[in-house]
Amino acid sequence: MTTVDAISVSNLCKTFGGTRSLFGGRSHEIRAVKDVTLALNHGETLAIVGESGSGKSTLARMVVGLEVPTSGEMKIAGRDASALRAKGPRAFGQTIQYVFQDPVSSLNPRKTIGSILEAPLKRLKGYGGPRRRARMKELMDAVRMPTDALERYPHEFSGGQSQRIAIARALAAEPRIMVLDEPVSALDVSVQAQVLLLLEDLRNEFDLSYLFISHDLAVVEAISDRVAVMYFGEVVEVGSAERLFRSPQHEYTKKLISSAPRLETPTG
Ligand code: ADP
Ligand code: MG
Repeated sequence: MTTVDAISVSNLCKTFGGTRSLFGGRSHEIRAVKDVTLALNHGETLAIVGESGSGKSTLARMVVGLEVPTSGEMKIAGRDASALRAKGPRAFGQTIQYVFQDPVSSLNPRKTIGSILEAPLKRLKGYGGPRRRARMKELMDAVRMPTDALERYPHEFSGGQSQRIAIARALAAEPRIMVLDEPVSALDVSVQAQVLLLLEDLRNEFDLSYLFISHDLAVVEAISDRVAVMYFGEVVEVGSAERLFRSPQHEYTKKLISSAPRLETPTG
């Protein structure tokens, strides 16, 4: 049996700017992602870590089709990413979903949670009428939220609850892969741990693969199987989380680890 990578990117690049302006000058060119080659294995959590501006979000946004690569190749679930997108939003959404940092702004304030979850369900086959309602309850259950949340509006929920709802909406599309860009960074530390545990349970329950982006090493250490370190647009080191935290190889990784507060060993 051959196993297909959930995501594989080869020599991926993204450059912003550098276009000629009306007045003849060239705008400053930013090479946000430089020649990144990386694979997310099926069933694993691969973290992308690096400081602000290192290109993590740009990489994530290219993978989910929100940003067009300048060059390079991307495969999702073994298929060329643009060919998969060309099959339409249902096929693409059933393969890969995106959850990002700010759960509050990601939920439409004028819609109940029920109607927020309804949109992705309407795209799928087999969720007409009563079955759709039952599925919404299942999704609330899956993210440990009460069923009556379906009748309520986003402003009635805390940041952590809102992120659970955003996760439920992503799950509604029945994806195999999730790209999570700083999904707990806006939450209090105590809430972060709960959402990380939830994500881990969901990954096992629904056989998901996660590309998990974070600038926070404590979070990365808690959730990831493997870690890729980004520095000025490049992946400078990739390895198992266990190996990378124990014996970082690249100078930048060493610096990052030695300067970060850890969950288990508070500094001072
Ligand atoms: P991170 O998520 O690691 O903080 P980003 O991918 O958001 O990093 O940004 C990487 C670099 O690309 C930064 O210098 C940022 O300013 C730049 N950048 C990101 N998006 C754009 C854009 N749409 N236009 C111009 N520059 C951008
Ligand atoms: Mg970012």
